[in-house]
Amino acid sequence: MKRYFIHTFGCQMNASDSSRIGEALGRMGLSFTPTAESADLIVLNTCSIREKPEEKMLSALGRYRAVKVARGAMIAVGGCVAQQEKERILKKAPYVDVVFGPDAIGRLPELVERARRDHVRTVETAWVDSDEYVFPRADPEAARGKVTGLVTVMKGCDNVCSFCVVPHTRGREVSRPVGEVLAEVADLARVGVREVTLIGQNVNSYRGGCTFASLLRQVAREPGVERVRFTTSHPHDLSDDLVEAFRVEPKIAPHFQLPIQCGVDRLLSKMRRDYTVAEYLERLAALRRARPGIAVTTDIIVGFPGETDEEFDQTVDLTRRVRFENQYSFVFSPRPKTAAGAHEAEWGPVPHAVKVSRLDRLIEVQRAITAEILRESVGTEVEVLVEGPSRFEPTRRFGRTPENRVVNFDGDAPAGALAWVKIEHASSSALRGVQGERVSLPPIPVADPLPEGDACSA
Ligand code: SF4
Repeated sequence: MKRYFIHTFGCQMNASDSSRIGEALGRMGLSFTPTAESADLIVLNTCSIREKPEEKMLSALGRYRAVKVARGAMIAVGGCVAQQEKERILKKAPYVDVVFGPDAIGRLPELVERARRDHVRTVETAWVDSDEYVFPRADPEAARGKVTGLVTVMKGCDNVCSFCVVPHTRGREVSRPVGEVLAEVADLARVGVREVTLIGQNVNSYRGGCTFASLLRQVAREPGVERVRFTTSHPHDLSDDLVEAFRVEPKIAPHFQLPIQCGVDRLLSKMRRDYTVAEYLERLAALRRARPGIAVTTDIIVGFPGETDEEFDQTVDLTRRVRFENQYSFVFSPRPKTAAGAHEAEWGPVPHAVKVSRLDRLIEVQRAITAEILRESVGTEVEVLVEGPSRFEPTRRFGRTPENRVVNFDGDAPAGALAWVKIEHASSSALRGVQGERVSLPPIPVADPLPEGDACSA
């Protein structure tokens, strides 16, 4: 076996896990290949947050089976679906060689080797005890040449949101010790990463030796780090300390992904979200007072069981009132082992066509708000952390503002530089402009990254 390919589904947590998977396979002597057709080992890192990614995973498995037949490649399935549905995977896809849960990433080489040597299927989905769990440390060399990097600060979730499968697929919350987080951030900064995103299922309940606010401030002070971001947060853990950190620490990027899920107290209570709309708005107001202009994005579930037309209208109204910068909205899909999945029939399933038409309407409202917010930048000069050539307009440069707005611009600032860009045009999803005179060069030269595929990582 010489080469591996990874197909990553789902969130940034999975993207980060895929990097650790790649590094583990690298230690076995395998190198990354960008196509499944040239791989000797195909890894699917799966997501079960909704039905769709799960269906996509099964259809991808069918495609990769042909590669297995053609060149004898091995197939390994990891991630949340593997954790929760190992029996179903083994039954539906008996040609899969390895099934491994999120806690077994470090053991993947051993599982692959045993499957190859003994011609057996190997399966490992046991949880590692919280006290014994060791977070895999990222190999900084894999990040050389990149401007942005993900650092895992915790895993799992102790909340019990009634729609969410994460506590069943990722287990109890475990926070990574602060020293380990800072060491990994320092490693990344040393190889040229200038923007660090701290990730976890509910980062603001972090307890790895300090509060999350303190962790953020320490990361922001690491030499070479220009911006710190994080995802994802639960509104009830948005502490005054964290709000204060936004006020005093300019390197904490003014962007907050704060899922509200819906704009109706009755449904929030059924979702077991542990806050009311008024409490959410109060936290948001505190955040906006601390950092005027902060971009707030959210998650919304459309068609939660029992949602009426009037209740959906309240969520649309809330979207308008808050003026979210953007939102990740999805139709409700019942997930195994969740309370909302179990009680859907009793609470009142919303017909699929109604869910879809509500979602379309919400997306349309949000698009208009996003476009309006972006238009407000036209004529202003914004700070852009340059990531390289634009993916869709290769003659232009590409980067993001502190608010995480995408900017494509005419200029020559290298990847890793902070460039001030005069915005001339706004579309519904991105800004376009021209580089001004102010450019702050990176302390360590970083190369333009290769264009990324959207579903494969190494
Ligand atoms: S806080 Fe987030 S990850 Fe945790 S159960 Fe709720 S939705 Fe799922």
